[in-house]
Amino acid sequence: MGRKWREVAAIAVAVTFAAVSVVTVGKRVRKRREWGRVEGIVRELEKECETDVGRLRQLADALAVEMNAGLASEGGSKLKMLLTDVDRLPDGSEKGIYYALDLGGTNFRALQVHLGGQRSSILSHDVERQPIPRHLMTSTSEELFDFVAAALKSFVENKETCDGDVRDSGRELGFTFSFPVNQTSVSSGILIRWTKGFAIEDMVGKDVSESLQLALRRKGLDMRIVALVNDSVGTLALGYYHDPDTVAAVIFGTGTNACYIERREAIIKCQGLNTSFGIMVVNMEWGSFWSSHLPRTSYDIELDLDSPNPTEQGFEKMISGMYLGEIARKVILRMAQESDSFGVVPSKLSTPFILRTPMMAAMHEDESQSLSEVDRILSEILEVPEVHPRLRKLVMKVCDIITRRAARLAAAGIVGILKKIGREGERPLGSRSGHDTTMRRTVVAVEGGLYVSYTMFREYLHEALEEILGEDIARHVVLQVTEDGSGIGAALVAAAHSSTAVHTR
Ligand code: ADP
Ligand code: MG
Repeated sequence: MGRKWREVAAIAVAVTFAAVSVVTVGKRVRKRREWGRVEGIVRELEKECETDVGRLRQLADALAVEMNAGLASEGGSKLKMLLTDVDRLPDGSEKGIYYALDLGGTNFRALQVHLGGQRSSILSHDVERQPIPRHLMTSTSEELFDFVAAALKSFVENKETCDGDVRDSGRELGFTFSFPVNQTSVSSGILIRWTKGFAIEDMVGKDVSESLQLALRRKGLDMRIVALVNDSVGTLALGYYHDPDTVAAVIFGTGTNACYIERREAIIKCQGLNTSFGIMVVNMEWGSFWSSHLPRTSYDIELDLDSPNPTEQGFEKMISGMYLGEIARKVILRMAQESDSFGVVPSKLSTPFILRTPMMAAMHEDESQSLSEVDRILSEILEVPEVHPRLRKLVMKVCDIITRRAARLAAAGIVGILKKIGREGERPLGSRSGHDTTMRRTVVAVEGGLYVSYTMFREYLHEALEEILGEDIARHVVLQVTEDGSGIGAALVAAAHSSTAVHTR
């Protein structure tokens, strides 16, 4: 090769090299920009989900104010503050065998409870748990209740045959039905509306107990419904049965709700209300709590608009197990749409509710060095191809932000109740006279898969409680998990209100 050709070749190599470098640098710049964009989305989310202690205190105050408004007049607040007609809680004197049915979320449970006649003396209890087939959640009331009645019948028959105690009559049932109900007596009530993805139109405005009683009759099961409660009331009943310092109960499961023990005089909307013991359990239906202090993001707005009950259950949609995974999915989808860090956006990632909260929890709590669980769930559930470890970390951060916000809002809710009843170290809102400000031991019964199984949720909630209340006061507040409380508690309420109950005194 002549000298000239050698020079040309050298120039050509240099040009190619420069071109490759430009492409590589270009790619790197683009990658960095893309990365900046996904990071920006997470940063923005974090900012919008901010729940500093000042905001949490405002929320607790707002909840206490709404509680008073809801007690003052019907429709006075988004908080329904429903009267449950439960005016006595099980004190330990209850004795005998009672049944319960717990319906109101992902699973339903049939239970038999044997009470021994002393506080904390549940001699035995058996539970059978079944998932509710999805199609029944939007079918007809007859189909839903026939299914439930058939399952209860087979449970009862198996149990009684096993125990050699087959009865023809005299069975009594506490029915836990965890949707907003206008109670017409302790054992009956009218469904106000559905929540948590249920939508059976023919049931709204009808008596829930009557529908179940008819289904039981159709199935040939002799059983009388003695109590109709929701899960929080059942949980409160079991909490109180074990520990009379229990003042309230909170549910963190598929949905969220709370109830507490109220003094009769404080229920202004029902002047002259007759209760045997001067108290009534009030079902707050706190899932519908709303305040401008709630940190709302564009994802929350979208989730609400796409839901079957827009503008309703605002608090629940930020807190409960049904929604946390879905909020996370929406954020991850935006990250994938606004950058190509995830490759082509997989169709699974666009499927609503495909990322369930237990999966989100598994990503959040992944302790492996390479975040292999995050990788597995991204690929198996969302069909996202293997992504850079840095991106897995960001996905984990998204789960953290959403769950932390949920848990801290939940804690503010609990403090709101304590404020209302004067158990957070100050004078109760709405009370005129001076009050005993010494802090008494205060127990809040808690139930629900989100609280029990999602460690990070639980820890963030406890941390926020301590932040809001301060260490000295938080020390007196005990959150007590009551396993299967909503079901066992319904049997206890049935026993406490049963006319045929055998009481030990
Ligand atoms: P419900 O009676 O309302 O169906 P449960 O108390 O059984 O609710 O709780 C079930 C809900 O709890 C699930 O829908 C899910 O959202 C949440 N959950 C259950 N297990 C976990 C988990 N390991 N991590 C996070 N959330 C969970
Ligand atoms: Mg439940």
